[in-house]
Amino acid sequence: MMKYDVIIIGAGIHGCCTGLQLARRGIKTLIIEKNIAGRHASGVNAGGVRTLTRSVHEIPLSLAAMDKWYRLDDLLGADLAENCQFIGHVGQIALAENQAEIDWCEGRAAETRALGYDFEEVIDEAEIKRLIPHIADGSVVGGLIARKDGHANPFRTSQSFRIAAERAGCTIIEGRRVTGFARKQNGWIVETDGTQFECGVVVNTAGAWAWKLAEMIGEKFPNTYEALSMMVTARMQKFIDPVVFGLSRALSFKQSMDGTLVIGGGILGIPELDNDTSDTVAERLAESARHICDFFPLLRQTKIVRTWSGLEAILPDMIPVIGASRVEDNFFHAFGFCGHGFQLGPIVGSVLTDLIVEGKSSLPIESFSAHRFGEDGMLSTV
Ligand SMILES: Cc1cc2nc3c(=O)[nH]c(=O)nc-3n(C[C@H](O)[C@H](O)[C@H](O)COP(=O)(O)OP(=O)(O)OC[C@H]3O[C@@H](n4cnc5c(N)ncnc54)[C@H](O)[C@@H]3O)c2cc1C
Repeated sequence: MMKYDVIIIGAGIHGCCTGLQLARRGIKTLIIEKNIAGRHASGVNAGGVRTLTRSVHEIPLSLAAMDKWYRLDDLLGADLAENCQFIGHVGQIALAENQAEIDWCEGRAAETRALGYDFEEVIDEAEIKRLIPHIADGSVVGGLIARKDGHANPFRTSQSFRIAAERAGCTIIEGRRVTGFARKQNGWIVETDGTQFECGVVVNTAGAWAWKLAEMIGEKFPNTYEALSMMVTARMQKFIDPVVFGLSRALSFKQSMDGTLVIGGGILGIPELDNDTSDTVAERLAESARHICDFFPLLRQTKIVRTWSGLEAILPDMIPVIGASRVEDNFFHAFGFCGHGFQLGPIVGSVLTDLIVEGKSSLPIESFSAHRFGEDGMLSTV
């Protein structure tokens, strides 16, 4: 039986970043992926690299991730960093359409300022017009901006993290499903649909399926997940730099490097977890397209050329589980990123590696503890 120090389940961005960090510390690491690396949420998301309006619990982690996005060369090497197509300093803007929404922006900025942060700033209509000249006059009264935020290409980024992990010496096996775990002294036997592997520590970065992996060791979490949908337009001339999203409407979009507009915003499709896929729903996407045309009438003639959806684990308090299992030693989780885990991609692997190697993280991660869920898998503290 092949033996490893650590086996990671799932080769999304969090699994691959964890594999990269562990391998760099000389730890013999295997990632097992049932599909292909980056096939699920990590490779099909909207690519938003956003600190704006995150849960206050996530801010330290998100800001630490942002530092790493700006130093991808150090993390991945120059060629793989360039492959991510990360564009920073374009800003993400939450558009406020009325006084109630601008009041909310003021309140949020005051809350984060009181916590000692200055990354969010309320801006008026004139500043929005300066940053987004094509926005319809009178459609917004202002907004909230995080100027350092940006976006990256999710497929290329996942690919870069995967290659970096392999270059560091981490092994990745694709097309192999983990089906169970057996306890052995000081470690685990990991059972798959092909063969068994032995390891000291297991890391569960299985995305929307992570609750199923946890259940295999008798640890319950909510089995909640969603199919988030995206659509992409034909290529068009440079139209917009910032990433924009609506505060009360299903709307979020950006222009990619190749000129396409990539449109998301939490539009739900139909999840098919057991079939390893999900479907989009045309009427729901049409609603989102209508919202965009309200803000940008000049897009009315733009063609949608492709739609897709991806599966994402959603937890009731909208923050992930990151840390040790609450029922077994030598078993760690990182899942439940609730639609915004791509931005955390460069940092979660470092946190898990610190927990595994040193037994602690220098970042405040208490809020992400598995212990906030009870034995029945329900949230016991909010
Ligand atoms: C449409 C969409 C848009 C999004 N937009 C953004 C955004 O703009 N910004 C942002 O920050 N975040 C965004 N997200 C969220 C982000 O994509 C995720 O939070 C992040 O990619 C999660 O990464 P992961 O590595 O945990 O999971 P995944 O990428 O889902 O990887 C988990 C892997 O585990 C594998 N696996 C599961 N079970 C098993 C098993 N039994 N055996 C072997 N392998 C297994 C799966 O096949 C999968 O490849 C979006 C998500 C979606 C779906």
